Order: sequence, then C-alpha cells, then structure tokens
Amino acid sequence: MTITPQTCREMDAADPLARSHDAFVLPAGIVYLDGNSLGALPKQAEERVRAVMTQQWGKDLIKSWNVHDWIGAPARIGAKIARLIGAKPSEVVVADSTSLNVFKALHAALCLRPERRVILSDDGNFPTDLYMAQGLTELLGATHRLKIVPPGEIASALTEDVAVLMLTEVDYRTGRLHDMAALTKAAHDKGALSLWDLAHSAGAFPVDLNGCGADFAVGCGYKYLNGGPGAPAFIYVAERWQGSAEQPLFGWMGHDAPFAFDLDYRPRPGIARFLVGTPPMLSLTALEAGLDLFADVELGALRRKSGALGDLFIALVEQELAGSGLALASPRQAAERGSQVSYRHPEGYPIMQALIARGVIGDFRAPDILRFGFAPLYVSFTDIWGAVAQLKAVMAGQEWQKPEFRRRAAVT
Ligand SMILES: *Cc1c(COP(=O)(O)O)cnc(C)c1O
Repeated sequence: MTITPQTCREMDAADPLARSHDAFVLPAGIVYLDGNSLGALPKQAEERVRAVMTQQWGKDLIKSWNVHDWIGAPARIGAKIARLIGAKPSEVVVADSTSLNVFKALHAALCLRPERRVILSDDGNFPTDLYMAQGLTELLGATHRLKIVPPGEIASALTEDVAVLMLTEVDYRTGRLHDMAALTKAAHDKGALSLWDLAHSAGAFPVDLNGCGADFAVGCGYKYLNGGPGAPAFIYVAERWQGSAEQPLFGWMGHDAPFAFDLDYRPRPGIARFLVGTPPMLSLTALEAGLDLFADVELGALRRKSGALGDLFIALVEQELAGSGLALASPRQAAERGSQVSYRHPEGYPIMQALIARGVIGDFRAPDILRFGFAPLYVSFTDIWGAVAQLKAVMAGQEWQKPEFRRRAAVT
C-alpha cells in the first residue's frame, strides 16, 4: 500500500498525544528530529524560569530556599522522573551531569562488590560513560579494569570477576535497544550489579527499572525530558542499596546535616547522599516544566507512537528513496529500537547539513551515521512525511556536493 500525505494526516488525527505538540515552542517551517540530542523548549519553561527569576530570586532572594522549597527541588523532580523509569519516588534524585552520575554510581557499585575487579561494558556505549569508568579505574590505582566487548558477547563475558555491568540501554548511533531485564538477570546470576544509562530512554518510552531489578541507573535531563541545554541529570539507586552505597564525592548537600557544618562528612540516609553541591535552580525550573508535560501522558501511548513514527520513517524511505544509497543502521522492528532511526551513507555529514538547510533537523554521528530522533510528545506523522520529502530532494539534487555543506562545525 502506498503511503501518502493523507495517510499521515489520518495517523495524526488518531494520535492521542497530538495535543501535546502545542505545549512546545517549535519554529514554523522546521521539522525537529533531534529531540534525542536536545529536546525542544516547553512554553511553560520560559514562563516558569522568568517567574523564578523575577518573583523568587528577584523578590524573595535567599528566603526562596525555604519559602519556595528550592532545597526540595532535586528530590521533588527526581520523583517525577521516577514514574517514567519504573522507580519509586524515593529512588531518584536530580543532580550534576550524566557523566558525573556515572562516576558516582559506578564507584558505589564497585564498593558493593569489593572482591571483584572488572567493569564490563560494550562498544555501543556512549564514550563519556567509558571515559568516566577509565578515569575511575586510574583513580583507584589500577586495581580495577574496564572490559569493553561487542554487544553480542556481553553474556559470555559475564564472568565471576565482573563487579558491575555498565550499559546504555539505547545505542546512541543505531538506536538498538538492549534487553534490560535479561541482561540485568544475567549479571545478577553471576553475582554482578547493573548500571544502566537511560539517556536515550527516559521520556521516549517507559522503562521498568524496578521490574528488571536494576541496581543503579543514570540519565539525561536535556534529551527526551526537554529540560534545556545542559539540564541537570538524574541518578537512580535501588532502595536495597541506599543504606550501603558509597558515594565518592563528599559534598555538603549529601551530608546528613548540611547546616550543622560539621567538619566531618557523614552521608545522609537514602538517595539524597548522591547529591553533591547546591542545586542549579534556574536549570531545575526548566527541567521541571519539561517533566510536567508528561504528567498525564499514558506511557504505553508514548511507546506506541515512538515505534509508529520510526516504522513510518523506515517505510517512507523505502518507498521514496530506493536506490539512494542510504542503508538502514537501526533495527527494523520497533520493539528492538529506541526512539530513533539511523542510516549510514559515506556522505552522511554533508547530506545532513543539506537537509538542515531545508528545515529538517537531525544530526550526524561519525563516521557515517545520519540520526533521526522522534520525540513522541511533539513530532507528528506529517512531520515524518515532510522530512522524507526533503531528504528525497537533497538526494535527487545531490545538494550534499555543495562546499558549504562539507565544512565540519565543532558540534555535529
Ligand atoms: C547524551 C549522553 C550522555 C551525556 O552526558 P553529559 O554528562 O550530559 O554530557 C551520557 N551518556 C549517554 C549514553 C548519552 O547519550
């Protein structure tokens, strides 16, 4: 059956999430398929950040830590994320960056398995996670080592010396989705703990950390959660580890009594010990506005739409762009993908630049990956039609040959 613009309009008409599009600031004439890298701006975020600046910071000054409960923001916002990732509200806190949270969680996991010396990860992991693990092993004096294997070899590499299995659920390049339940169980069967990075999961589809028995998790605030550039990240620690988990960065916000100003560190009970310094209130305010847009979203609907957007994109590329040389780099089955679809092409970088010039924003990941992310809250089925139509024009006109599209910017 041929897909037409009318097919896409009908899919939009039947979409229960279609209304949430209006909650975002999206420039006219732009199809935004990069919410997996930087989520769009929620209209509420603008208003709320302005209110926190003028009403709270501007008028109530330092009293705001108490009267506007700024001090409670990391836990309050963490609890809102908990629902999206299948955690208890008391298991998630918002703090720092994803990179730093990897460091904190990894250290805590290693301390819980002192007799084991291997951090196991795969080569689909995001580099910053691997770098943080490398830095941590150096700091520990080379007592531990990071072992990186291809995704298909994780199960066989799970030996008795593995302390923690550290994986990102969705491969940032291909969108390949790991089986969190099976891999967490495999780790536990060998006595290892699990640390999951949900950077490309949280807000794109429901995650079930508790159901999978996951031990630790981290994730990004600025991707599908729409928290704004450099938004604070989150960290999850399963309740059973919270009493014994050793957070390596002793900051006063993780102290049992920060305003007692004791000279000695004493960790707070619960997830709050994973806080380090003073919460960034303006960034947290924007993140909370983004999260509130999920409040009445049924998470199953999020997953269904995410899969359907990707399926439509793949089907349309097949229908409209046969013979273009674009090779699907993502799993064809929606159940095996996150919320993105990627293609390989040797001219991937200039093709993406030419497409962006036509108002369709995706991104490029070296060496040859064109990435298209589908944020279910604001991407429509008609957007997918528009994106593929523009991609077709770029390929047909060989627009990527133009010199201006071949110059690499600092951020790809
Ligand atoms: C985006 C991303 C990060 C980013 O970490 P920052 O500390 O926020 O820069 C980390 N891990 C994964 C898997 C990511 O996709």
